[in-house]
Amino acid sequence: MARYDLVIIGGAIVGSSVAYYLREEGFPGSIALIDRDPQFTYAATTLSAASIRQQFSISENIRLSQFTLGLFRRLKEEFGADADIGFRENGYLILSTDEGLPVLRANHIAQEAEGADIVIEDSEALVRRFPWLSPEGIAAGAFGRSGEGWFDAHAYLQLFRKALRTKKIDFINAAVTGIERDGNRVVATLLENGERLEAGTVVNAAGPYAGKVSALADIMLPVEPRKRSVFVFEAREKFPDMPLIVDPSGIWWRPEGSVYLVGGAESEEGETAADPQDFEPDWSLFEETIWPILATRVPAFEAIKATRAWAGHYDYNTLDQNAVIGPHPDIKNFIFANGFSGHGLQQAPAVGRAIAELIVHGSYRTIDCSAFGYERIRENRPYRELNVI
Ligand SMILES: Cc1cc2nc3c(=O)[nH]c(=O)nc-3n(C[C@H](O)[C@H](O)[C@H](O)COP(=O)(O)OP(=O)(O)OC[C@H]3O[C@@H](n4cnc5c(N)ncnc54)[C@H](O)[C@@H]3O)c2cc1C
Repeated sequence: MARYDLVIIGGAIVGSSVAYYLREEGFPGSIALIDRDPQFTYAATTLSAASIRQQFSISENIRLSQFTLGLFRRLKEEFGADADIGFRENGYLILSTDEGLPVLRANHIAQEAEGADIVIEDSEALVRRFPWLSPEGIAAGAFGRSGEGWFDAHAYLQLFRKALRTKKIDFINAAVTGIERDGNRVVATLLENGERLEAGTVVNAAGPYAGKVSALADIMLPVEPRKRSVFVFEAREKFPDMPLIVDPSGIWWRPEGSVYLVGGAESEEGETAADPQDFEPDWSLFEETIWPILATRVPAFEAIKATRAWAGHYDYNTLDQNAVIGPHPDIKNFIFANGFSGHGLQQAPAVGRAIAELIVHGSYRTIDCSAFGYERIRENRPYRELNVI
């Protein structure tokens, strides 16, 4: 039987970042980083749209993403001269109808207060900036002039995984199938192969399956997998300056090299948890929902060809589509890093840092994540992020 001071369940971007920053903060204890999917084939991390933005409604979410932006800006200092994640800083353009304007403006106030470089422009100004855009039904848009864009999620994850190799971490390839408790403490994790790992502290970094992992310790966490399909399409015309555009319908698209990615067509109304085995993209969404919107918004997209698609699972917090960060208020050695609901890739470094500070120093130092604490889950008190894309 092995014993670890810290066991992290889930070794993709969030789990790896927690391990990385624990060592950066000087955590001297033993760390096990457990994952059942060593290639991360089904992780949200590798199936994501790999984009980063400042356009959130909640200040803490803006700060978490700004931390990651700071990391992107000094990537080589942090990870070495050959570190490169192909960050394309093309911005986000969030379009709004007349009806949506008050929310767009309120969000913009929060973003400006955090120093984010976002500008609101009316439809005429937007068409001057992006002549390929149709202003039909659009009142205005919020555009990120810097600090927003996309990158290579695999390269980003590999930077952390590679850096961990020299940091005395035990990588364990196994599924966690049980968590033992002794009253108000978790004491061990049980693996599929029958092994029992005693644990001083357990961090839940299981992404879309965080609710299931919490349930192993008899702890309720309203995080479940929600399937999201992403389609790749080709268009004759190229728009190198195109940002990631979010249509008022919720559909988003962006360039990816010489092709484009599009998604966001799922309706959340009446939606339930995804089947954990179901990674089949829903092609009907492309034909019925996505294509007509693309053709309206960018007339040059009338003649496009979808070439492939994939589906991933959002780590969806059904209470308020926002992260749950920090310890359980009673079971204090069980720590959440969950529920990012589609924006966890860009927040992972900041969350890793925050959790490391909490474990090593007993309090948050860089970014106060108390607002994301589990207390609100228990009290059924949503802390809602309005810009869930
Ligand atoms: C289609 C799509 C688009 C997205 N786009 C973006 C975006 O543009 N920007 C952004 O910031 N975020 C985006 N996200 C969200 C982002 O991908 C997630 O929030 C983030 O990757 C969560 O990271 P994670 O490490 O917590 O979860 P994951 O990457 O899912 O990793 C969790 C890991 O836990 C392991 N695990 C789970 N249960 C167990 C168990 N019982 N035992 C052992 N191991 C276990 C899994 O194997 C997995 O590797 C998107 C997600 C999807 C699906």
